[in-house]
Formats: sequence, structure tokens, C-alpha cells
Amino acid sequence: NRSIVLASRPHGAPVPADFRLEEHAVPAIANGEVLLRALYLSLDPYMRGRMSDAPSYAAPVEVGAVMVGGTVSRVEASQHGDYAVGDLVVNFGGWQDYSISDGTGLQKLGALASPSHALGVLGMPGFTAYMGLLEIGQPKAGETVVVAAATGAVGAIVGQIAKIKGCRVVGIAGGADKCAYAVKELGFDACIDHRASDFAEQLAAACDKGIDVYYENVGGAVFDAVLPLLNPAARVPLCGLISQYNATSLPDGPDRLSLLMGTLLRKRIRMQGFIIWDDFGHRYGEFFAAMSQWITEGKIKYREDVVQGLENAPQAFIGLLEGKNAGKLVVKVAE
Ligand code: NDP
Repeated sequence: NRSIVLASRPHGAPVPADFRLEEHAVPAIANGEVLLRALYLSLDPYMRGRMSDAPSYAAPVEVGAVMVGGTVSRVEASQHGDYAVGDLVVNFGGWQDYSISDGTGLQKLGALASPSHALGVLGMPGFTAYMGLLEIGQPKAGETVVVAAATGAVGAIVGQIAKIKGCRVVGIAGGADKCAYAVKELGFDACIDHRASDFAEQLAAACDKGIDVYYENVGGAVFDAVLPLLNPAARVPLCGLISQYNATSLPDGPDRLSLLMGTLLRKRIRMQGFIIWDDFGHRYGEFFAAMSQWITEGKIKYREDVVQGLENAPQAFIGLLEGKNAGKLVVKVAE
């Protein structure tokens, strides 16, 4: 029974030494509990926040404690009336082989073609894309929607839902391969490489009618290029700021807060942050039905980046913060 614990709080980008692999006996269950074997572990950007003790919307992982994370697991032993050995569930098992649950927060997996999809397109990232875009973004047919981290777990779904809604979709991604994938496979109208030296000019050219919805996953230099292109009454779902997660201080340079606030004021732009489960948890069923339908109809494509072995989770997670993942990053922990 292996587990990966937080060995130290990172300063800047996490390094392998911030994690430690430990071996323990498989825990025993009590009456009313189930023993769960992790099959897939989801790796997600929010985990960087849990490694820090800076104030956030959720408590940090304590140093020495198991890293948190969503998992698809199989019931290995059960003393709980609702669960039988062999059942597949989604739980918050963390970075470890085995976890115990009293049923709280357990979700039975129906007949999913691929169980790991419960951690991506049909799970938290897909739900985040759906709610942030449709509820906060309010996209209308013919409008221009821009999404950053466009080929990742959330961004790829945002762009495809925006296409279903009849929008023009411009992605922003790191590198030529990801941009080609966004256009050729995901059906985006354009995708711009944020690492290009003339990124801002290319983005402006691709958004010749301005931007009506900017789905923010990234922040930093990408947002600087987006801000002047926002149209009056634009909506900005503020989902994530991954370019800042490893930052140890505010960036150098002139204070641009008044530029931001002045733009929001003059153009009556609505920018709204959200935390998916806190704000929209009660609407998961609605999302699941809509997304399942779109997948059946072939309207949503989905790519996973599957890393083999729990021991490789730290390196894969470090890579996620550097854009090394191609699609939703999951770790295959066991067969
Ligand atoms: P992704 O699968 O998109 O992976 C992260 C991607 O972020 C990388 O592949 C990389 O893409 C991009 N990235 C990393 N560093 C930078 C940088 N410095 N500048 C620009 N892009 C960068 O992750 P998710 O889809 O899981 O998450 C996307 C965002 O959504 C994150 O900010 C996350 O925190 C947020 N989120 C928020 C939720 C909420 O409730 N508010 C819930 C779930 C996710 P590329 O190579 O294309 O640059």
C-alpha cells in the first residue's frame, strides 16, 4: 500500500523532493466502511494550491500527509450495505493505493465506457467547463469566445461547447502541436501559440471582431493580450490562473490595476470567479445528462494523457504546471 505524501512546501515550482513515497500496511475496515483500491488518480492544477499554506478556499495538505486527489476506485472489501466488492466508485482517495470510506462523498460509477472519464470529461473538469462557460460566460451564437489552456481538461471542453452553441472559438495553447490539435481535432476556428513572440498581434488578428467571452484559465501575459480586445459587455468567467500558481511574489513592472479597472468600467465587462463544487455542485446531474448526450452524438472529443504508475505522479504533476500534458492528465494506479 503505497502513498505519496507532501514532504515539504514548494517555494516556486514544485520539485520531486517536495513529495515522498511511503509504504504502509493495507488498512482494515470497520463496520459501515469500504476499502477502496485506486485504479485512476486525477492530477489537477488546484493541487498546487493545496501544497501551499497561503489562504485559499480549501485547507492545505499538512506536511507529511497524503496528497489529496480525485480517484476512480474499486471496492475491495465492504462492510457497507450500499457497496459490494467489485463496485466502481468515484471518491477523493488521494495519491495512494488504498483508502477507506464510510460512503460520504462516494459516487457509484454507472456503465461508463472508460471509467477514467469520470475524472475528466464527465467529472470535475468537464463540469467546470460547462458551468463556467454557460452560466457565467452566457455565450450567444455568432459571438467570439476565447479560451486559454485550450487543449487541456477544461479548455478543450469549453471550446467544443462554445462551438455547439454556434460561437466563433479561438483557443490559446502552448506550441504548434497543441494549436494544430485544437483546430483539426477539436474544431476550433483558430488557435494561437502563447509562446510566439508576436502572440498579442496574432491574437488580435484572429479576433477581428473583438472578444465577447474570455474563459480565463491562465492569467499573466495571456490576459494582458486579451484585455484590450474585450468588447463592451464582455463576460470573463474567472476559472483559473495557472501561470501564477508557482509565483512567489507579484510580478515586476508598472501597476496595471487601474488599466484593468478602467477597462472593466468603461466597457461594462463582467468578470466573475467561481469554485465549481461550492457554486454549482447541485447542478452536476444536469451537466452529466447534457455531456453524456453530446458524447453519444459525437459532438465532444476527449483526449487523456495517461501516466502509468503511482510513483510517477509527482513528475507528471510538475509537468502539468509546465504545459507538458496533452489532454486530461490521469495516473493509472492499478488494473
Ligand atoms: P490543463 O489540462 O489545461 O493543464 C494545465 C495547462 O495550463 C498546461 O497544459 C498548459 O497548457 C497551461 N499552462 C501552464 N502554465 C502556463 C503558463 N505559464 N502560461 C500559459 N499556460 C500555462 O488543466 P485543467 O484543464 O485541469 O485546468 C485549467 C484551469 O482551470 C486551471 O487554471 C485550473 O486551476 C482551473 N480549474 C478551476 C476550477 C474551478 O472550480 N474554478 C476547477 C477546475 C480547474 P499550454 O501548454 O497550452 O500552455
